[in-house]
Amino acid sequence: MSQTPRPLVAGNWKMNGRRADGLALAKAVASAAAGIEAELLVCPPATLLGAVGEALAGSAVGLGGQDCHQAAAGAHTGDIAAPMLADLGCRHVILGHSERRAGHGESAALVRAKAEAALAAGLIPILCIGETEAERDRGEAFAVVARQLAGSLPDRATAASAVVAYEPVWSIGSGRTPTLADIAALHGHLRAELARRFADAAGFRLLYGGSVKPANAVEILATANVNGALVGGASLKAEDFLAIARACPRA
Ligand code: PEP
Repeated sequence: MSQTPRPLVAGNWKMNGRRADGLALAKAVASAAAGIEAELLVCPPATLLGAVGEALAGSAVGLGGQDCHQAAAGAHTGDIAAPMLADLGCRHVILGHSERRAGHGESAALVRAKAEAALAAGLIPILCIGETEAERDRGEAFAVVARQLAGSLPDRATAASAVVAYEPVWSIGSGRTPTLADIAALHGHLRAELARRFADAAGFRLLYGGSVKPANAVEILATANVNGALVGGASLKAEDFLAIARACPRA
């Protein structure tokens, strides 16, 4: 991978969408994806992965899961294994999202085990890390994300096989974003932390996530060490998601 990675814009649909609107959204994104510089990815809820995967077939838009279990198969009612996602055509899986760390009590060790399972299945984990507002107010943001990165990114990850997404918890779904200087400083810190462990640190994609909208995408995506975005709410409207994707700077 070259030193400046191609940007990735990933849509996290979360627990939204019925079959009809999921298909319409996927088709609208797919039909406009050609010619966009950034790599595009949509991560629908598990119920829609099969149908959306079929709708995206032959397009430039990838399919991703929102979570996976750490085991490859077995007695885990309600869970989905990484090989099952791969079998459906997924390329990526979001892991360690703050809504899972907080809402499902996921520890760094569990997220790391899930990331190992994803890598073993040939999936690219999109590993989410980010501080809460209280942690930021206490001046702990850098330490928190470094700890999360160290705890949940497997040693065998490479720039080609894993993605890191910085998502300040207080920014997700709130309409509030850090200043550009804060994003640049945090992403620079993450790049330096990666460089302590990985020879190809410069090639890792570092996504920013948290209230990315068409109105703020150009400046956020042009910030140093930001190599794309993880988009929640705005990924549910094709035109907003595509506007964000088009806002990525050309390499
Ligand atoms: C997210 O949940 O990953 C996210 C970034 O959400 P939003 O864009 O809605 O803040």
